[in-house]
Amino acid sequence: MAAQVAILSGPGLGHLFPCSELARRLVRHHNLTVTLITQSLGPPSDTELSLISSIREEINVVSIPPPPPHSIPQNKNLIFLLFFLSAHNCPHLRTILSSLSGNTNTPPLKALLVDMFYDEATLDIAQELGVGHYMFFTSGCILLSFALHLPKLDETYDGEYTDMLESIRLPGYCQSFSGRDFPQPVVERKNEVYTSYLDLSKLYYKTHGILVNSTEELEPELIKFMKENKRIPPVYPIGPLIRSCSCDGGGDASDDQCLRWLEEQPNGSVLYVSFGSGGTLTGEQMKELAWGLELSKQRFLWVVKRANDEADASYFGGEINMSSFDFFSTGFLDRTKGLGLVVLAWAPQLQVLGHAAIGGFLTHCGWNSILESISNGVPMIAWPLFAEQKINAVMLEEDMKVAVRAKVDDTGLVRKEEIVRLIKCLMEEDQGRKMRDRVNLIGLKAAQAINQEGGSSIRSMKAVVSEWIDL
Ligand code: UDP
Repeated sequence: MAAQVAILSGPGLGHLFPCSELARRLVRHHNLTVTLITQSLGPPSDTELSLISSIREEINVVSIPPPPPHSIPQNKNLIFLLFFLSAHNCPHLRTILSSLSGNTNTPPLKALLVDMFYDEATLDIAQELGVGHYMFFTSGCILLSFALHLPKLDETYDGEYTDMLESIRLPGYCQSFSGRDFPQPVVERKNEVYTSYLDLSKLYYKTHGILVNSTEELEPELIKFMKENKRIPPVYPIGPLIRSCSCDGGGDASDDQCLRWLEEQPNGSVLYVSFGSGGTLTGEQMKELAWGLELSKQRFLWVVKRANDEADASYFGGEINMSSFDFFSTGFLDRTKGLGLVVLAWAPQLQVLGHAAIGGFLTHCGWNSILESISNGVPMIAWPLFAEQKINAVMLEEDMKVAVRAKVDDTGLVRKEEIVRLIKCLMEEDQGRKMRDRVNLIGLKAAQAINQEGGSSIRSMKAVVSEWIDL
């Protein structure tokens, strides 16, 4: 008997991309019927629309309408808004799922897969409908382990984690972390976001199973620990799930411009610079970065967004549709002509990272960007901005040894001298060569996990699918 599952994607491309790739694999490789439920805070971006239209043939997509603008809390941070949205959309979710499970023309609904910022009510909804409740964790095991450990940390420490003198080890993991590198939701314990995130981390223990966009080949220690710990729901590493290029939302003039320009550059010579779909720099930081790139004399492809004092200003798509470079008044574009290419807001990242001309990636350490870089054997400069990106950066540099981390000065800026140092280290020095060799090896193993018959992620996926079918 065929079966159906519903996936509730979180808002933002960093969630929608892996959720749609999971949906596509469940349809193609496991013969399931999948409904992908999307949510957003405002009108979806062109990239989101293009992605959705590219998967509609295979996947039933239902988009929850954005909340009325007047109901959206003002001056709140990204994490607060993610919690707001997941609570706000629960009644819509109940209606959608009730209609799916009551439809006798489609295979029986067996499981609801919720993204990582889920509301407690989703557990009740799944129970009422008699379907399994599973989480699809679209970041890595490093954040998952952190969240699962948070209730214990909360009991053990008073005061702000950022003030902690000693560093913290996550259970089962060799790497230690300073409180200053902890994920964004926990940096201020008196903030309402901290309480919500702590409650969420406790809810993680109540779901029936956790699918995570990682693999034993990338995060072996953490996965082993979580699998052996009986208090933690079964963990299924099913990654790296990377969207296929065909749904890049691209193919437009600027995409062609990037790829044509890369064709003209020598192999391994270009540094790709991008802060993801959500990341933005302050005006001062952009100037330092421009100086650093110019002084390094390395080739670069820089995806630029309008400067903003908030590091996550373009997360909900607001900055994507800009149209000019008016913020570069210094002649930078003229002076770097030929050596560098600057594009507005968006580049076809998958094709860029897969191009032979790319030798390194200066990244904000979003989880998808990390997986895409590793899968293409590209070493990184880790320049984390928000969310869990700082712990990802520590892991990349100190555990995997595939990145070098940017140092921020006392004023919070990465200065041009530091940028030159990082670029030279990655693109010219022995350390960069070693990182490249390592990332090639890890990338190859990760690709086998998901693409080769018998690979660890393929086995995990089969295990969880058969659990759903048996429900
Ligand atoms: N991305 C892209 N072009 C861009 C910027 C981002 O294709 O110019 C894609 C990137 O390939 C990745 C996703 O957007 O799949 C960003 O996800 P990530 O987790 O790296 O960061 P986020 O945007 O969620 O902060």
